[in-house]
Amino acid sequence: MAVDALCSPLGPPACEKDAKALQFIEEMTRNADAVQEKVLAEILSRNAETEYLRLHNLAGASDRETFKSKIPMVTYEDLEPIIQRIANGDKSPILSAHPISEFLTSSGTSAGERKLMPTIREELDRRQLLYSLLMPVMNLYMSGLDKGKGLYFLFVKSETKTPGGLMARPVLTSYYKSDHFKTRAFDPYNVYTSPNEAILCPDSFQSMYSQMLCGLYERQQVLRLGAIFASGLLRAIRFLQLNWRELAHDIRTGTLNSKIFDSDIRACMIRVLRPDPELANFIEFECSKDSWEHIITRIWPNTKYLEVIVTGAMAQYIPTLDYYSGGLPKVCTMYASSECYFGLNLNPMCKPSEVSYTIMPNMAYFEFLPHDPSSPTIGSDKLVDLVNVEVGKEYELVITTFAGLCRYRVGDILRVTGFHNSAPQFRFIRRKNVLLSIDSDKTDEAELQSAVENASKLLTEFNTTVVEYTSYADTKTIPGHYVIYWELLRKDPSNSPTKDVLEKCCLAMEESLNSVYRQGRVECNSIGALEIRVMKNGTFEELMDYAISRGASINQYKVPRCVNFTPIMELLDSRVTSSCFSQRLPHWTPERRR
Ligand code: AMP
Repeated sequence: MAVDALCSPLGPPACEKDAKALQFIEEMTRNADAVQEKVLAEILSRNAETEYLRLHNLAGASDRETFKSKIPMVTYEDLEPIIQRIANGDKSPILSAHPISEFLTSSGTSAGERKLMPTIREELDRRQLLYSLLMPVMNLYMSGLDKGKGLYFLFVKSETKTPGGLMARPVLTSYYKSDHFKTRAFDPYNVYTSPNEAILCPDSFQSMYSQMLCGLYERQQVLRLGAIFASGLLRAIRFLQLNWRELAHDIRTGTLNSKIFDSDIRACMIRVLRPDPELANFIEFECSKDSWEHIITRIWPNTKYLEVIVTGAMAQYIPTLDYYSGGLPKVCTMYASSECYFGLNLNPMCKPSEVSYTIMPNMAYFEFLPHDPSSPTIGSDKLVDLVNVEVGKEYELVITTFAGLCRYRVGDILRVTGFHNSAPQFRFIRRKNVLLSIDSDKTDEAELQSAVENASKLLTEFNTTVVEYTSYADTKTIPGHYVIYWELLRKDPSNSPTKDVLEKCCLAMEESLNSVYRQGRVECNSIGALEIRVMKNGTFEELMDYAISRGASINQYKVPRCVNFTPIMELLDSRVTSSCFSQRLPHWTPERRR
C-alpha cells in the first residue's frame, strides 16, 4: 500500500510502518468509547470465574452498568491481602483467569515497601504496542532520525522472587529482559548506541560506563539523547564528570577499564573498542574546561533533542538540563506505570509545561474520579468514563486492567487539556501525597514525620527535641538529596548534641524512609546523602510571619512540611547554624523486609 494512501490526520508518515501506527492511533482515538466498552467486556468475560468478580456477584455480566453498580473502587491497601496470597503461591484464578506471570514492583510504596503489581504475559505485547507508536509520532515532527542513533541510558534493577516463586522486578527491567526487547527487529528509526549487554548488566557502574563509552565513540552519529527520567540523564552527565579521564584513556588505547569485568560486556565491547587518540584528545579538551555549560551539544553536536520525562516531579530538573544542553528541546513521549501503560504525547516537540498525554483506549478500562481536595471521600458513583471527562477539570486516574486490577486508584492527578478525536488528553499534575522526590522515590508526609520522630529519639539523651521541621528536595547537587531543616530545643546547653550525633540522625532518617529511597541511595546511587540543616531558634516563627504577611490566616497556618519557594528557601538558608550529612549508606537489600 502506498504511504500516502494511509496519510494520517496527524501528518504525513515517514514510512509505511509509521502509516499503520498512525492509523491505529486514529482508529483507537476516534472510537474511544466503543473501544473502552469492548475492553471492559473482554476483561470481565475472560475473568468472569475469578474469585474477585464472583465475590462481587458479577455473575458473568460484562456490561458497564452492572460493573459500575457492583464493583467497588479500591486502593492498593484494599487489595494487599489478595496480592499477598498470590505472592505466597496461590495459583487459583483470584484476580485474573490468565496466570499471573510475575509481579512488577512499583516505585509507589505501601508500608515502606514497593507495591507488587500483578501482570500477565500478554501485557508485554500491549506495552510493546504502545512503544511502537512513539517513533511514528516523533517522525512527524523531526525528519532524518533514521540517519543516526539514539544514546539512551537504560538500566535494569535487581529482581527478587516472592515466597511463591514469582519474579518481582520493576516494569522496565522486565521489559528489557524480555525477548520483545532483546530480539527486537532492526528499525532504522530506533537504533541505540548502547548494546543490549551493557543495558542488561545489573551493576550500575559497569552498565553506565560501557553505555557512555559507546556513546562517546559514536558521538557524531548521536541524534537524540535520553534516559527514562530527567534525573537519570543528569546522573549520566555527572558520571562523565567523574570518569572522563578513564573513558578517554580507554578510547586512546582501545582497551577496556579493568573495573568492567562483566564477561558479556567485555565480549561485546570488542566490537566497539579501537584506539582513537584524536577522539580521546577531544574528550579531554572538552571535559577539562572549567565550565560544563552546553557539554551535551559540545560532545554530541548533532543531537536534535533530549528524550526524558520532565513532567510531574521531574520538572525540577529542567533548568539543569537546559544548562548542559543549551536548551535543546525536551521530549516527553509517554505516560506509563507498573499497573498499566496509559498513553503517549501526540505533540512531542511542545514545551514541557504544555505536555499532554493522550490515553490510548485499548490499554485498559479507564475511569476518572473528580479531584476535589475539599471532599476527599468522594465515592465511586462519581466516576466518569474516559470520553466524558471535561476540559479544565482535574481527576484521579482509576483503572481496570487485563491482569485483574478492578477500579484501582493509581494515585495520579491529571487535568484535561483537550481531546484528540474522542480521546481526552491530560496534563500530569502530580502524584497524590508526594512531598519529596529526587528520582523515582516518592516520600509522603507521614513517612517524613516518622523519619523525623525516629531520628529525634537519638536526641533524647541530650535533652534536646525537634520543635519544628520542614524539608526540601535539593536538586542543585547531582545526584539530588533530601534536606531536612530542624529547629531544636536544647534544654541543657552544656550537653548539646554533637555533629556526630546529628550525622547519626541523618542516617536514622534514611533508615526510616521507604525501600525505593534506600535503593536509590544504595543500588542506583541516584540519591545523595540526606542533609540536616539546623536553624536558629525562632526561624519557624519568622516563616509564619512571612506567610501571614502574604495573606495566610493566622488561625489556619500550618508549617509547610516541604518548601521550594525561593524567598522561603533564602530565609531558611540565611538562618542555618550548622549542617551535616549522613556518613553511611542506609540498609537496603533486594529482599523485601516483610
Ligand atoms: P512506576 O509504577 O514505578 O513505574 O511509577 C509510575 C508513576 O510514575 C505514574 O503513576 C506517575 O506518577 C509517574 N509517571 C509515569 N510517567 C510519567 C510522566 N510521563 N510524567 C509524569 N509522571 C509520570
